[in-house]
Amino acid sequence: MLTVDGVSRSFGGVYAVRDVSLDIAEGEVRGIIGPNGAGKSTLFNLITGHLPADHGAIALRSAPLDRLPPHRRARLGMSIVFQGARVFRGMTVRENVMVGAHTRGRTGFAAAALRLPRHRRDEREIARRAEEALDRVGLGAWAESQAGLLPLGQQRSMQVARALCARPSLLLLDEPASGLRAAEREALAVLIEELRAGGLTIMLIEHDVAFVTRLADRITVLDLGRVIAEGTPGEVRADPHVVSAYLGD
Ligand code: ADP
Ligand code: MG
Repeated sequence: MLTVDGVSRSFGGVYAVRDVSLDIAEGEVRGIIGPNGAGKSTLFNLITGHLPADHGAIALRSAPLDRLPPHRRARLGMSIVFQGARVFRGMTVRENVMVGAHTRGRTGFAAAALRLPRHRRDEREIARRAEEALDRVGLGAWAESQAGLLPLGQQRSMQVARALCARPSLLLLDEPASGLRAAEREALAVLIEELRAGGLTIMLIEHDVAFVTRLADRITVLDLGRVIAEGTPGEVRADPHVVSAYLGD
């Protein structure tokens, strides 16, 4: 599904991501873990196209992505939930989700945010997809609620629904569990399991090792911008490099 081959990115001469390679298989949940500053979000942004790589190649289903801007990558089937993704607090849940849907429609996100007129057929299709996505994350009954009034856990589900609107084949999540209470974490884990069961490929960046361990088929461990380990959750947790770099506390 996704191939990252020897990708590097530095800021001011310091590598944030250094010669990272990984392959994510179709239908897999891949966890990416590492301490703060390990390069997880930088890797995420290199994959989504929000940041250009200095070196290396990235391909989605064998299609090279390297020169494509984020919206073109989205059109190829990649959907994202950014770390601390923005909620339009005064808008309804449905509106929040529909704003996201425009990334793959005829008109852009900016036009949607500005509420510019759109093609009526597009509008109906987007509304249909928003409905479907809200049902899928269990927010069907909350569509008309004001987004800012939802508990944080449901706001995260709403962000996932927004990403699902584009009907992605690869979903990238950057620390979706951060700040959530135990029960909300559990609900998010169940949602991710359901999405996986539905055939979605997921790249899950997380600081919370227990959360990733439960969900991921395989885990890639970053430290100081490099891959220091990769394997099943059990393999990774037993790896001495990982223990000393990260799990050793
Ligand atoms: P993580 O998400 O694993 O916490 P990041 O990818 O955010 O790590 O950061 C990796 C390193 O790159 C850190 O040292 C961070 O300070 C640096 N970094 C990230 N983005 C930038 C940027 N836009 N400009 C300068 N340095 C950055
Ligand atoms: Mg980060």
